[in-house]
Amino acid sequence: MKTKDAGFNSKLIHSGGIKDPLGSAVTPIYQTSTFSFKSAEHGAKCFSGESDGYIYTRIGNPTIADLENTMAELENGYGGIATGSGMGAVNTVYMTYLGQGSHIVCTQAVYGPSRGILETIYPKFGVEATFVDSTDIKNLENAIQENTKLIYLETPANPTMDIADIKAICELAHSKGIKVCVDNTFCSPYLQKPLDLGADVVLHSMTKFINGHADIVAGIVVAKTEEDYKKLRPMMINLGCNMDPNQAYLTRRGLKTLSIRIDKAQENCIKVADYLTKHPKVSWVKYPGLKDHPQYELGKQQMNGPGAMISFGLKGGFEAGEKLMNSVELALLAVSLGGIETLIQHPASMTHSKLTKEGREAAGITDDLVRYSVGIEDVEDIIKDLEQALAKI
Ligand SMILES: *Cc1c(COP(=O)(O)O)cnc(C)c1O
Repeated sequence: MKTKDAGFNSKLIHSGGIKDPLGSAVTPIYQTSTFSFKSAEHGAKCFSGESDGYIYTRIGNPTIADLENTMAELENGYGGIATGSGMGAVNTVYMTYLGQGSHIVCTQAVYGPSRGILETIYPKFGVEATFVDSTDIKNLENAIQENTKLIYLETPANPTMDIADIKAICELAHSKGIKVCVDNTFCSPYLQKPLDLGADVVLHSMTKFINGHADIVAGIVVAKTEEDYKKLRPMMINLGCNMDPNQAYLTRRGLKTLSIRIDKAQENCIKVADYLTKHPKVSWVKYPGLKDHPQYELGKQQMNGPGAMISFGLKGGFEAGEKLMNSVELALLAVSLGGIETLIQHPASMTHSKLTKEGREAAGITDDLVRYSVGIEDVEDIIKDLEQALAKI
């Protein structure tokens, strides 16, 4: 089926375009490191690009291409570049656009390592970074320098749920010749399409909503134009952060149910948000679906739904956070997000415990903050679990 003009759900099922010669209903796992050429001439044509035959799995593989083509269609981009992890995707983008003497402006509350590598690894290569609260475009405007090459956004941001205005920021960046990359992990293309809003590149940790079953670590970069794709792809190949065919197969399988998984998790999350808002031990709830979210209107404009990630604060602070973690029974006490199972995490005592309190607060992580990734279980059970755990505080 030609999927280019099909609806989102049809694309989820039928995009990819890799046809098995034996008629297999799904793209098989081409578990091979290398591909044999039909002749010396054919080999030469594969290397020169005259023939699009496969050469070597780090460069390209049919099972991986199926996933890459599907993600490119879902994000309305030119091409996808799958990576072994979300961090492989982040590094592919940074390494493509940054270099000696260049500068990046990055959302301050991003996935920890996306910021961490800009503070610890990239300075070794002469790359300078400024971290800003990207909910106010003025902060980005003030941070832009002559040598700024890339603006890196995560929206909604992790774990503050802050929302940045993708369209306005892209207009600002492009007026100064700066590229924009959006980490779309929290939304997936079902809820947000950054390339349609003007971004040049979008990336995902497919470990999260895209695969959605907590059994794979994977990433992808999708470029809007052929020009950017042709810069990004060789970088991934040369960094060696390619995906494995088995990983691609499982990710493509998980992706097929993306919309129904997100619909259910989001429906649950809206009810959880409502429950938490009314709970006497909860001091605040940050969720794009709540009218008191500071960027509620913007979220409604650029997202197709509020998603299934929620952050909330406990009146009892740090100790209450720890107590809640030790009291949940249904929710898994784990990092990661976007899976079919509900996950709970207390950044101050867990993922961000190595940072100082000041360091955490600079990234928007207060001691009372709990991050909750709502799954697709029965919402009554999710709420019952929160009820009994909150009662123990
Ligand atoms: C998990 C995550 C990453 C990193 O992805 P991995 O697959 O763990 O390497 C990047 N960005 C966001 C928003 C994430 O949640």
